[in-house]
Amino acid sequence: MRVGGKDRCAIQEAAGSLDSTFDPNQSAAFSAAPEVQPLLAKELTGDLRCARCKYNLRGLSIRARCPECGMSIRGTILAKVDPHATELQPIYFPRFTAIGLLLWPLAGVLAALFLWCVRASELAGHPAPGWIADGVVLCTLLSGFGAIALVRPHAQIAPDCVARAIVGVLLYLPLALAFHIVLNRIDPIAPTPFVALGQLSTERSAVRLVCDLLLMIIIACLRPNARLFVHRSMLLRSGRVDRQTMLAMVGALAVVTLGDLAHLAGTQFSGGIEQIAQVLGTVLIAVGSMFLTVGMFGILVDMFRIVPAVLSIPVSLESVTDGQFSGSMLSTSSSRVP
Ligand SMILES: [Zn+2]
Repeated sequence: MRVGGKDRCAIQEAAGSLDSTFDPNQSAAFSAAPEVQPLLAKELTGDLRCARCKYNLRGLSIRARCPECGMSIRGTILAKVDPHATELQPIYFPRFTAIGLLLWPLAGVLAALFLWCVRASELAGHPAPGWIADGVVLCTLLSGFGAIALVRPHAQIAPDCVARAIVGVLLYLPLALAFHIVLNRIDPIAPTPFVALGQLSTERSAVRLVCDLLLMIIIACLRPNARLFVHRSMLLRSGRVDRQTMLAMVGALAVVTLGDLAHLAGTQFSGGIEQIAQVLGTVLIAVGSMFLTVGMFGILVDMFRIVPAVLSIPVSLESVTDGQFSGSMLSTSSSRVP
């Protein structure tokens, strides 16, 4: 077979182009293992702060260690790079959302504490000053205002979830009104069933039942979008600290509701049966309210954990390695670390 000058040239060209695509890293890959090992030697092209000391690791090899504290850079990648980063929608207004997310449970906790103050001063024999009852109503409204952050924090939220969240926020208005009626209208004119036996009021228990139901509906309405934020936080998503706090609060509310129903049933009787219903109802309300308050603190703690994930843009592997790696590298490298 005759190879002409022109043809030889073409072959050399082809060989040359083959050579240029075979960089030493790739040939090393073939000789080593059919894995992505050589890619691990590549450097970080984006900003990535060391998980331990916050030193910027940009420009260092992924196989290296932090020059400041010695932590392995792969460890930082595993801790900081979010495999779901590219799926997470950017939040429209991160600061307002973060403030709302904190205000929502913080005002709720304050409302609960004010309410405990009202009851505690009743038991102590000194009715609480009016501004404490006003504090319950005001904090309820503030909590609902904070919950606006849950309505549509970013794009691509299912319309029915947005609609549910709007309903949840709006229901804070009748809830605050119901608290106002119980604390500022009914309680000042008659002793509450918590201090005096035989003082059950149908009206009071009925309005309280409305409060219980409203709170349950509010929690059910806000929960789907609150879960979106739990998913945003790597820490909470990983399941290590994820709690079904809001479901537990619905359970606590069910106990409170049973207590109010016992009070309501008690109004139909007199004497011993009424008193038994009253004591039973009061115990249920106290226990349920305690768990409800604990649940609110739990949500407050969770929100403090979620806020950093709201304020910072999630770090994707692509953003720190110039898109050279896929997420599979994380699992490969972690299994390789001795
Ligand atoms: Zn470090």
